[in-house]
This record gives sequence, C-alpha cells and structure tokens, in this order.
Amino acid sequence: MGKQAFELKATLENVGSLVVSPDMPYNVQIKCSLCGEIHQKTVQLTEDHLEPIPPKNRSEAHFVMKCKGCGRVNSLSITKVTPYTQSESWQMVCELECRGFEVSEWYPRHFVGTGIEGAEEAKYEVELEDEEGWADYDERFDMPVSVLDLETRIV
Ligand SMILES: [Zn+2]
Repeated sequence: MGKQAFELKATLENVGSLVVSPDMPYNVQIKCSLCGEIHQKTVQLTEDHLEPIPPKNRSEAHFVMKCKGCGRVNSLSITKVTPYTQSESWQMVCELECRGFEVSEWYPRHFVGTGIEGAEEAKYEVELEDEEGWADYDERFDMPVSVLDLETRIV
C-alpha cells in the first residue's frame, strides 16, 4: 500500500506543457507487494477507465486484478495528474495509489501538449513511439515543436 509518483524528464521545444492523455492507455510493469509475484506482461492504465473492486464492488480503481501468486485482489488508482512544464528537469506527471501492486516500470506514449506563451491555444497530440521523441511543425504559429530526450522514473 502506498503512493508512487511517475516522473518525466524531456526537452521541450516550443511546447508549454505536456499532460498524460486521459483517454489513452499507458503500459506499466507490476509486481505484487505481498508475495513478490511479477506479472509477466505489462498492463494498461487509462485515467478515464475505472473498474469495480470485488467482492463488494463498492469502490473502483483504474486497474484491478487477482494476483496469480497469492490470490489477493490488488488494485492501482490514478490519484493525480499534473502537467509537465519544466523542460530538462524531473517533474511528477502522475501519482498512483497502490493497493497490493507496485509498479516497477511505466511506458507513457500519449500526451496532450499545449503551446508556449503567445500560442496557448495550440494543442498537440504527442505520440512518443520510441526514444527519439516527437517532432512536428506548427503551421499556424510558424514554428517547430518537439518533445525529445524523454526519460521516465518512478519515485
Ligand atoms: Zn501476490
């Protein structure tokens, strides 16, 4: 049980902020904190998706699963999402409440980016396919935009 924070570090060019997409899943690697069982495949978390926690189904979490090792029903909930704004610095973008599972890795791919000062109404769908990052050209504001050198960690 406890909180985990997902942190990001990236180089932003003409991008004012990055927020984890609420309707796109990101993959996480999980481990049971009771018996130590590491789930083989990554699982998906999506902010907009909630499921009930059995047996009473009175509360909900973003991810619920019975651990194969010990049989306990464990869950993960996203409790806070904050924008990434400080290029080249570590900053928290997502906080999780962990009940029985802990996350050892996370692989974010989809973000919503917004424009810099003077171009605040610009919105970018930032999809990070690989470590090279994302780059585009904003025709309206006539400038290149990019998110490069992405690193992630969990604290
Ligand atoms: Zn277990």
